[in-house]
Amino acid sequence: MSDNFSDDLIISTKNQHAGRIITQLSELLAILALDAKSLGVDVAPDFALKVPYAFVQKMQKGDKNDPLLRQVLPIIDEKNCVQGYELDPLQEKKFNTIKGLLHKYPSRVLITLTGACMVHCRYCFRQHFDYGANLPDDDTKAQIIDYINKNQQINEIILSGGDPLSLSNRRLFLWLDAFCQTHVATIRLHTRVPIVNPCRIDDELLDKLAQLTLQKNIIMVVHTNHANEIDEFTKNILLNIKKTGVTLLNQTVLLKGVNDNVNTLVNLSHRLFESGVLPYYLHILDKVQGSAHFDVPVQKAIELYWAMLGKLSGYLVPKLVQELPNCLYKTPIDIYKQM
Ligand SMILES: *Cc1c(COP(=O)(O)O)cnc(C)c1O
Repeated sequence: MSDNFSDDLIISTKNQHAGRIITQLSELLAILALDAKSLGVDVAPDFALKVPYAFVQKMQKGDKNDPLLRQVLPIIDEKNCVQGYELDPLQEKKFNTIKGLLHKYPSRVLITLTGACMVHCRYCFRQHFDYGANLPDDDTKAQIIDYINKNQQINEIILSGGDPLSLSNRRLFLWLDAFCQTHVATIRLHTRVPIVNPCRIDDELLDKLAQLTLQKNIIMVVHTNHANEIDEFTKNILLNIKKTGVTLLNQTVLLKGVNDNVNTLVNLSHRLFESGVLPYYLHILDKVQGSAHFDVPVQKAIELYWAMLGKLSGYLVPKLVQELPNCLYKTPIDIYKQM
């Protein structure tokens, strides 16, 4: 991922750590009182370590198996070459007709506004994506708007990345205003920022979201894998977003050693709901190179899913899906398989 936009990040001055992003392994381990030796850490990973201080604060000191730490700590297992794990598992390239625009599902387009993200999730399926060659500039912006205007079957624009909230408000609002002028009914933001760096959600952004909801349906899909990611501050930020009129949904990736346990998934759904967020998707891991150690077999996922159905209200059960390269929707997992 490119970090071209990191100078554009909002750094809050509320406290000395707010908004700060950790990229040094030694600093991360010092905060958590952990020793590199016992962890199997990769000190020179291809995909750099990057995690906001606010997310590290939610980890348990001294616990090398902390489910939040596992999501961001580079380990040597990532260098294992495992058959079936690829650089571009979703084969998205062919749907990428204009720089920054991905039109795979007929009724909605996905725009990769930036390659920058505030957190480098080790299982990120776009970790090998060449953002440098694919970022929209001013020329492509006009092309993107023109493309949307000419395709009346598109009724939703999804802002993705990287993470669209790693842009400054100024840059983000220019895009949002342009998309507001189109015919689409719905604008959706895919972002992990409210979870990993909640102080980025400032009043200016909340005001803008409130204004936008008067013109379009505004949806925000956050990404949370474990209830520990939502502390009280994060919960209040999510509730503030909800108050603007935005519909809040969550996607989770099923990850071995992080959330492959029914109680963990049940607690997550309850915690999301307390925070004004409904579970949307539970994804089977995309088979991206370097992520094989996170794999949960589909059969185990199906068992977990049935167990969740037994414990949760229907609206708290996310859809269990898998992304297949040539399929024009997220494919539901067949939960009756081999029963
Ligand atoms: C996931 C995804 C979407 C959104 O799909 P929904 O099922 O509507 O959430 C759109 N475009 C692409 C390329 C996607 O990967």
